[in-house]
Amino acid sequence: MKTQAAVAVAPETDLEFRELTLDEPRPDELRIKMVASGVCHTDAIIRDQWYPVPQPVVLGHEGAGVVEQIGSAVSGFEVGDKVVLGPSFCGSCQQCLSGHPMYCETFYDHNFGAQREDGSTAFSSESGQSVGSHFFGQSSFAEYTNVPAQGAVKVPQDAPLELLGPLGCGIMTGAGAVLNVLRPKPGSSIVIFGTGAVGMAGMLAARAAGATTIIMVDIVAERLDFAEELGATHTVNSKEVDPVEAVKKITGGGAEYALDTTGVPPVFSQMTKSLGVQGHGALVGAAKLGTEAPFDIGTLLVSGITISMVIEGDAVPKEFIPRLIALHQNGELPFDKLTKSYPFAEINKAFADSAAGTTLKPIVVF
Ligand code: NAD
Ligand code: ZN
Repeated sequence: MKTQAAVAVAPETDLEFRELTLDEPRPDELRIKMVASGVCHTDAIIRDQWYPVPQPVVLGHEGAGVVEQIGSAVSGFEVGDKVVLGPSFCGSCQQCLSGHPMYCETFYDHNFGAQREDGSTAFSSESGQSVGSHFFGQSSFAEYTNVPAQGAVKVPQDAPLELLGPLGCGIMTGAGAVLNVLRPKPGSSIVIFGTGAVGMAGMLAARAAGATTIIMVDIVAERLDFAEELGATHTVNSKEVDPVEAVKKITGGGAEYALDTTGVPPVFSQMTKSLGVQGHGALVGAAKLGTEAPFDIGTLLVSGITISMVIEGDAVPKEFIPRLIALHQNGELPFDKLTKSYPFAEINKAFADSAAGTTLKPIVVF
């Protein structure tokens, strides 16, 4: 069939709208009619080739849509089911089997390979050139796409699909790093660096978990004001004050938990130094391959801190996304306040507004 798609063709260049041919879903796949897709910072850095993903390629990895067609080997789905799409994983390696599919040993190939395991792509151009698909098991910047059924998460028929796509990456990443990895105790303190969609999702999750000192650090005053509105107990503008000193003062020695959503090396160092004795910090912010950050092994040895590198919130999406939806329905995870909708035709504006920091979480609606 034919489908309209936004295609990444070159670094730092607008996505191009093209009519592509979508092939037939494989036995283990679903064809999805996309309803909406979040735009994640990761889409922008892949368009810009921070990680080598072959172009032209259809990006997008926060898709939500409706099952249109079902591969012959798929069970558990019916045509018309509403789904939120998550990352792809093999399901059979040691990490997948032990409940950590976001650390699948072939995660990179599955999510950044832009093709199926057999080397085929789902999309091709009018001239017959293959166009990369299966980005994060989705390539959701297309009206129709084929996805591995394993990564699709069925959601209730009354679920607001136009809102839920970001649960598949950005919101899952921030909330999962907090709820699945850091696991703050009720009454505890946490500092979060970066008040983008990922940091804000972490903040809302920390609040839902009962953390009572929630410090948000950023260099953009408006974002800090918004963080306060949404439940931060303290904000620190690290352009104006030393965030390590500020966090130590607020917490009386250092935070129990910390999250770096920036991927900026000096910020990572600040995070390690903001932790109290035996504190637990996590990095989710992405940096170019080869990026190193200073880490004071002399001073920090005696502090006994733990640092985790966290992918996609270490979630099992089929288990975690329904929990996030339940928290949202309950009013405890109001991530809808982070989002702004754009027609699919304005996807490049959505990218630009995200880069400019004026929109936290753009969602393109088909
Ligand atoms: P974003 O750009 O909206 O937010 C980043 C925030 O960091 C911004 O508010 C920015 O002002 C702030 N910031 C930048 N430099 C800073 C500094 N020096 N000090 C303090 N704050 C600073 O991005 P996002 O959508 O929230 O995503 C955050 C990061 O997470 C991105 O790098 C993204 O690629 C990554 N990510 C990782 C995973 C994962 O699995 N680990 C998944 C999704 C996204
Ligand atoms: Zn993402």
